[in-house]
Amino acid sequence: MPEHPSSRRVHILREEVSRKIAAGEVIDRPLAVVRELLDNALDAGARNVEVYLEGGGLERIRVVDDGAGMSRQDLELAAQRHATSKIEHEDDLARATTLGFRGEALASVAACARLTLTSSWADTGPGAYRLVVEGGRRRTLEPAAGVRGTTVDVADLFFNLPARKRFMKSISAESRGCRQAFLEKALPHSQVSFRLFSEGELRLFLPAQGPRERVAAAMGLDLQHLHAGEGKTTGAQALIVAGRPELARRDRKYLHLYVNRRRISDFSLLQAAEYAFGEYVPGGSHPVAFLFLEVDPALVDFNIHPAKKEARFRNLAELRQLVIGTLRGLLVGFGLRAGSPAPKEAPGGVKSGTEAGQAWTFEAAASRPLPASLLPGGEQYAAPSGAPPAGADSAGASVHYRGQLFRLFLLVERGDSLFIVDQHAAHERLLFEELKGRRLASQELLLPVRLEGVGEEHVRRSQESWARLGIRVERGEDGVYWIAALPEELLCVEEELAEALREGTASPEELEQRVFSLAACRTAVKDGQELDPQSAGELARRALALDNARCPHGRPIWMEIRRGDLLRAVARPEE
Ligand code: ADP
Ligand code: MG
Repeated sequence: MPEHPSSRRVHILREEVSRKIAAGEVIDRPLAVVRELLDNALDAGARNVEVYLEGGGLERIRVVDDGAGMSRQDLELAAQRHATSKIEHEDDLARATTLGFRGEALASVAACARLTLTSSWADTGPGAYRLVVEGGRRRTLEPAAGVRGTTVDVADLFFNLPARKRFMKSISAESRGCRQAFLEKALPHSQVSFRLFSEGELRLFLPAQGPRERVAAAMGLDLQHLHAGEGKTTGAQALIVAGRPELARRDRKYLHLYVNRRRISDFSLLQAAEYAFGEYVPGGSHPVAFLFLEVDPALVDFNIHPAKKEARFRNLAELRQLVIGTLRGLLVGFGLRAGSPAPKEAPGGVKSGTEAGQAWTFEAAASRPLPASLLPGGEQYAAPSGAPPAGADSAGASVHYRGQLFRLFLLVERGDSLFIVDQHAAHERLLFEELKGRRLASQELLLPVRLEGVGEEHVRRSQESWARLGIRVERGEDGVYWIAALPEELLCVEEELAEALREGTASPEELEQRVFSLAACRTAVKDGQELDPQSAGELARRALALDNARCPHGRPIWMEIRRGDLLRAVARPEE
């Protein structure tokens, strides 16, 4: 009968076994090898890097660099555990600017593959050395031919770990993973030239270039739709490459955060980017933004995750502000902030009609904001009268409400144009602006909303921003906090508000944005609702007078069809 595992005695694992287990933490898939080898090449100051993949990286991964190289003595140690040239003392951890510092990668690769390192150290003149290690055992270290730099060849990954090998996905999935790892190194190192070969063919060549050009080339985006901007705060600087809001997508594939040239996923900083785009990007979709932050190493700790995918920041609030501020500046560049020039091309999503032989051009509202001075505020139209009200803009062009279409759009004639206004989106934006401009008076809730899981510290931190929105939170006898008072306007979003308070949404502005846009959406006229001409006319006029003609979720509120376009569409001569 086999011995029961629990009846065995405690013993220390053999070095060979423990080495394999440790290696597994660093090298779990081929993409991890690509990542680690590229880190080393970049840490060595390479200007040109080539990556060769075979069999999705399982058969072979080779990285060739023209960096500083290694001497014979370096090679002796390089593939041993805890061998590194990058830090010496514990204090150095807080100053490390290199991508690697643990001295584990090469040892881990060596433990689970056949590793060949060929390197030439500039200072020793020509002539290189080659080290071969298989499954953690050193085979040879001999002189070899080679130019300055290092070639690392990793063959038969996991040859001695059949269990691990069975967990690998298809060759094409592993290839994609490697490519992704490659891109994540290439993106924040635009000054370095990168080549990726797979199955003997050059798949991607990224010459040394600027960050904006690199994002376009690496991600296959149109350079024209990308802008770059920079920002600074104490101990940190940001370079952000962002896409026009119309490029927003359902997934977050084009939303990357790099801190000190490492890709990390920090919810709070990524969320800051989404927040900065806020109303310009429709709900449920995500902006295209590549955030490259350089943070003083003393203010950030990467030493909490083997692949350094997470980090802890001492100055998170400042970093969030940096991201938001820099992105906001970029949006001005796109012509999306008040007082900024309109972009040239019509944004996607809105038809720039080429049907009927370029018959007409629809222009999105946001691309041609009407100056507020052109149209008076809504109050003036509230005067009751039998006929649908007409107004006039300052240039004398009359404004006529012409009716409702599909119980969804309001048709307005102004000067030489027909404006088609989305009634719900327009009302939503107007209510949203109103909420922002108003001092909200709070009222006691009859049925208090409990805030389970919210602690004292959380309340202390947030109380001020809650108070600004007229929200009063009190502690109940059972120790649980609850919402005691709310402004009337927010009663319709009580549940969502409670949710936001529990999460502790960081800044008052964000909280405001979130609950106000929700409240506006709840209260605005719905699609399918019939409107009397009086209110419809007023709504349409006020919508046309908005500076920011997008709903709080980022959709355009209206579009314009010009008379000339219509005439051309039916082939009439323009008088
Ligand atoms: P770490 O990068 O954490 O120091 P590694 O195991 O990845 O640990 O590498 C060990 C050491 O080998 C590095 O500190 C470096 O000195 C040297 N090394 C590895 N790859 C290269 C390379 N491509 N060029 C120059 N030196 C290298
Ligand atoms: Mg390394």
